[in-house]
Amino acid sequence: MPSVISTDVLIVGAGVAGLWLNARLRRQGFSTVLVESATLGGGQSLKSQGIIHGGAKYALHGALTGASEAIADMPRRWREALAGTGELDLSGVRLLSEAHYLWSPGTLAGNLTSFFASKAVRGRVDQVKGEQLPPALQDKRFKGKVYRLAELVIDVPSLIQRLAELAGEGLLAGHEIQPLLEGGLLVGLKVDGRDIRAQRIVLSAGAGTAALLEALGLTQPAMQRRPLHMIMAKGPGLKPLYAHCLGGGTKPRITVTTHPAADGQWVWYLGGDIAESEGVAREPAEQIATAQKELGQLLPWIDLSTAQWATLRVDRAEPLQSGLTRPDNAFLAEQGRLLVGWPTKLALAPDFADRVIAALQRDGIQPSHSAELPELPKPPMGIPAWEQLLP
Ligand SMILES: Cc1cc2nc3c(=O)[nH]c(=O)nc-3n(C[C@H](O)[C@H](O)[C@H](O)COP(=O)(O)OP(=O)(O)OC[C@H]3O[C@@H](n4cnc5c(N)ncnc54)[C@H](O)[C@@H]3O)c2cc1C
Repeated sequence: MPSVISTDVLIVGAGVAGLWLNARLRRQGFSTVLVESATLGGGQSLKSQGIIHGGAKYALHGALTGASEAIADMPRRWREALAGTGELDLSGVRLLSEAHYLWSPGTLAGNLTSFFASKAVRGRVDQVKGEQLPPALQDKRFKGKVYRLAELVIDVPSLIQRLAELAGEGLLAGHEIQPLLEGGLLVGLKVDGRDIRAQRIVLSAGAGTAALLEALGLTQPAMQRRPLHMIMAKGPGLKPLYAHCLGGGTKPRITVTTHPAADGQWVWYLGGDIAESEGVAREPAEQIATAQKELGQLLPWIDLSTAQWATLRVDRAEPLQSGLTRPDNAFLAEQGRLLVGWPTKLALAPDFADRVIAALQRDGIQPSHSAELPELPKPPMGIPAWEQLLP
């Protein structure tokens, strides 16, 4: 029979939200156990593009106002963490790009007028030309305007690795989760038959949260999944590019990020409008052909003739939103000892942790358990999608 564990905060789901929260709590002296049923970061986090948004993308459709500062502050908070001087020491995490770019092919799209009028981007956008252009755009045939956004792009695999180190002995591979009740109240969880008591229980299980709530006999908070059909290309002719390419609409036509593969080549990872509804409806071969055509038109000087291609279907898991909900904050709901939420963006993991920590402070929850834990089975690291699909 596995031993009973008592901890301050029991977290379920080791994506960026659970891992970041776990590291913050441990730094403040709380004991924690972080349960993961699959792999560390292997849900949405390792499939993300790693852009630390400051909100510029939302300003394109006017959804970001000067009042929504949580996301605007994220690049600074991540930068400090990456420098080892912030709320977490992420000094070993690889920064892929100091900036993300906004690139308008041909003539300036009309929607940029409201974009540049937005308070959220004022002072955070500079036009770049010539040698300052991202390497993949430095060609005499390139036409269009490029703006440098004060947003970073990080290497998510190295982030997950570092957050796993900061989790110390607190990680637990666990599959079957049931409520641990006392007098009808939730006091912890039963994980694979082991009782884990905790002052607070946090569910940060991404797309798995709805099923976990069901196992606890709860239906709220409701969640939604928004599907994406992403495209990847790996090849020797690719140069780094981190940019939103604008189309006529309010969403980027394509968002390109570039990731290092284990064999030393670069992988272009394409999201944005191309991966949304019409892209989701396309079969993989059709989706790849669409991407090839788009890149052929936009960047004809890039040699893609020997590139390998793949697509990836993945859902974004979020709280159920009405049209009015702002996309620029993490979400947290509370029911007694249970806290449930989604960061809604990788970039907003610090905001998610802030919300949990504020709830603990408000309720006077203090570190009270020794950090000593029995030897626990550990979840494995997740593998980046491009290593699985383009080995
Ligand atoms: C294609 C794509 C690109 C994106 N690009 C960006 C970007 O550039 N910038 C940005 O800020 N955001 C981006 N996002 C959003 C971002 O990836 C997510 O908001 C963020 O990763 C969510 O983190 P999470 O920890 O909540 O979820 P996840 O990373 O999905 O982690 C949840 C974890 O919970 C585990 N789990 C599930 N059920 C259980 C259970 N019953 N028991 C135990 N564990 C369980 C899962 O295995 C998983 O490891 C992107 C998302 C997608 C899909």
